[in-house]
Amino acid sequence: MMERKFAIAIDGPAASGKSTAAKGVSRILDFLYIDTGAMYRAFTLFMLEKGKDPKSEEDALALLPDFRMKEDKDGHVYLDGRDVTDRIRERDVSSLVSYACAYKAVREKLVDIQREMAEGESVVMDGRDIGTVVLPDADLKIFQIASVEARAKRRYLENRQKGIAGTLEEIEKEIEKRDYIDSHRENSPLTKAKDAIVLDTSDMTIQEEIDTIVSLFKKKVGDLWKDTEQSL
Ligand code: C5P
Repeated sequence: MMERKFAIAIDGPAASGKSTAAKGVSRILDFLYIDTGAMYRAFTLFMLEKGKDPKSEEDALALLPDFRMKEDKDGHVYLDGRDVTDRIRERDVSSLVSYACAYKAVREKLVDIQREMAEGESVVMDGRDIGTVVLPDADLKIFQIASVEARAKRRYLENRQKGIAGTLEEIEKEIEKRDYIDSHRENSPLTKAKDAIVLDTSDMTIQEEIDTIVSLFKKKVGDLWKDTEQSL
């Protein structure tokens, strides 16, 4: 008998701690973690490296067929075989990614890659449209939110550790702008799936976030998970 596979979808605005929580949850449950934002970031970097404008749909569509990216199980992202994991977090990419990822054809191609990666696996996937579009049948859907101040502060500290420049005010503005574009675009905007559980992480530690999501998952799938655990 084929083993039951599970899916957890985590959506929410920029820098709400989705990826850190998703990584932690995937480690505890031994699921595959898929960071979909990294894919849109890789496409944006690809456009910039080719000297193209991520705000131009024409440029985006012209480059799309040549876009080759790979995300491995450890979260490393490769563009034409080159490791761009850190590069895609830099501010030029962050400030333009919301434009490049708004085009229908770009989303269709990346959603296909995301579903292919998830095929036959138990996954934790994070993004903006996972519960609504990519994995509408996910076993658990989380819509993770946090105040702009909490998010900007987290991202600021994270960037400082990685040596990425930017003041707290600049980061706060970038986050707000990105959220606005992501929530107002025509194709797969950032919205809460009807059956998603809202998790406000403003005053939560990472460990509390992870523990909450794991226990919500176990509660939601109940005996199905217990059966899987016993057969591990
Ligand atoms: O999650 P992260 O901040 O890395 O995502 C970068 C950007 O990619 C988002 O601001 C959003 O514009 C886009 N994105 C998206 N759909 C997803 C994941 C990310 O449009 N599923």
